[in-house]
Amino acid sequence: MTAPSGSLWRPMVDADFVGGIRDFVAQRIVPAAHEIDAKDIYPVEIVRELAALGCNAMSLPVQYGGRELGYAHSVAACEEIGYGSAAVAICLITIFQAQTMLKTFGSDSLRRRYLPGFAKGLIASYALTEASHGSDIRKLDTKARRDGDGWVLDGEKSFITSGSSAEIFVILAQAEAGVSVFVVPRETEGVSTYIGENSATFGLRNGPHVNVRLQEVRLPLDHLIGQEGKGVRQAVTTLDHSRTLAAGISIGIARAAFDAALRFARDRTAFDQKVVEFQGIQWYFAEMLARIDGARLKVYEAARALDEHQDVSRHASAAKLLASEVATDVAAKCVQICGAYGTMENAPFGRFLRDAKTYEIGGGSSEVLKNALAKRVLTYAAEL
Ligand SMILES: Cc1cc2nc3c(=O)[nH]c(=O)nc-3n(C[C@H](O)[C@H](O)[C@H](O)COP(=O)(O)OP(=O)(O)OC[C@H]3O[C@@H](n4cnc5c(N)ncnc54)[C@H](O)[C@@H]3O)c2cc1C
Repeated sequence: MTAPSGSLWRPMVDADFVGGIRDFVAQRIVPAAHEIDAKDIYPVEIVRELAALGCNAMSLPVQYGGRELGYAHSVAACEEIGYGSAAVAICLITIFQAQTMLKTFGSDSLRRRYLPGFAKGLIASYALTEASHGSDIRKLDTKARRDGDGWVLDGEKSFITSGSSAEIFVILAQAEAGVSVFVVPRETEGVSTYIGENSATFGLRNGPHVNVRLQEVRLPLDHLIGQEGKGVRQAVTTLDHSRTLAAGISIGIARAAFDAALRFARDRTAFDQKVVEFQGIQWYFAEMLARIDGARLKVYEAARALDEHQDVSRHASAAKLLASEVATDVAAKCVQICGAYGTMENAPFGRFLRDAKTYEIGGGSSEVLKNALAKRVLTYAAEL
C-alpha cells in the first residue's frame, strides 16, 4: 500500500522532501498501521524516528533545532504520514499544537527550555476539553490560582490525544482573569493520567485519549504561556494552525482509500471484466479524484495563508471542513467499490472510514468550523 511514484498525487512542496517521507511511510508506517489501530497504541518509536528524520520540529526556528520550513511542508508531512496511518500523523498534530503555543506566545525562557526538545522527539499533548466543556472553552472547570511565587492547578481534562505518552501537556485552565494556558511537565507532582470510560474512540486511535488529572499541581510563575486571561484567543490561534495540518491528514486518508480501492478494482473480476472497467465504478473514481484534488488545493492555500498571516481562520476552517468531509465520503465510497472485501476487518477500509469520520469532530467539529466561516461571511456582508 505504498504511494505510487508516477502520479495523481504530485508533491505540493519539493519532491525530495516528500519523497523522503514517502519512503519512511512505506517502510515503517504502513506495515505498522493496522496493529496501531487495532491495539490502540501510541507509536513512541515511530514518533522518535520521525523526529530523527527532521519531521517533528520542521517549522521551528533553527536556534531551537528546527528547520524553519513553511507550513506547506508541515502539511505535506501530515498528508504523507496520514496516508500511511492517520493515528501516527495525529501524534505530530499534538506535538505541533504544543509547539505553536510555546513558539507564538511563550516567554523566551519557556521557549529555550522546551522548544529544543521537539527536534529530539519530545512528545506533547494539548488539553482543552473537559467532561463539561468541548467546543465551548470560554469557561473551564479546571482552575489555576496564583500562590506565592507560582501557580496551582486543579481539575481534570478529557479526551487527551497522545496523553498516554506525552512528556509535557499544554493545558487550558480558568484563572482569575479568564482562561489561561500553562505548560505542565508530566513528572510534576499531582499530575496523573488514567484511561476513562470515554478514552477509546473508534477512529484516530493513537493510544487511549486519556483523562489528565491535576491535583494541587504547583508550577513556576513563568509556566503561564502568554497572558493570563487570553487563553481562548491563544487556543483559537493554535487551532487555526492545527486545523490546516489536520486537513492534510484527511487528504492523506482519502488518497490512501482511493489507491487501495483502485488496486482492488483493477485486479478484481466480475461479469468477465475487471471491476475498474465498469463505467459506474470509473465515475466513482473520477468524482473522488475531482473532490480530493479540490480539497487538497484548499489545504495548501490554507498553509500559505498561515505563512502570510492572511485570513487564517477562514482558510483553516474551510480546509478542515472540506478535507474531512471529502475523506469520509471517499472512504465510504471505497468500501462500496470493494464490496465484501471493503468491509473486512483485515482490510484497511474500516480504519480509513473511522479515522476520516472522527476527524469531522476532533480538533474542531464541522459545525464549529462553519460558525467560523459564517462569522467571516457576516463581516464581509457588512462591508459589501
Ligand atoms: C479523536 C478525538 C481526539 C481528541 N483529542 C483532543 C485533545 O487532544 N485535546 C482536547 O482538548 N480535546 C480533544 N478532543 C475533544 C474535541 O476537541 C471535542 O470533542 C470537540 O471540541 C467537540 O466537543 P464535544 O465532543 O464536547 O462536543 P460538544 O461541544 O458537546 O458538541 C456536541 C455537538 O454540538 C455541536 N455544536 C457545539 N457547539 C455548536 C455551535 N456553537 N453551533 C453549532 N453546533 C455546535 C458540535 O459540533 C457537536 O456536533 C478530541 C476528540 C476526539 C473525537
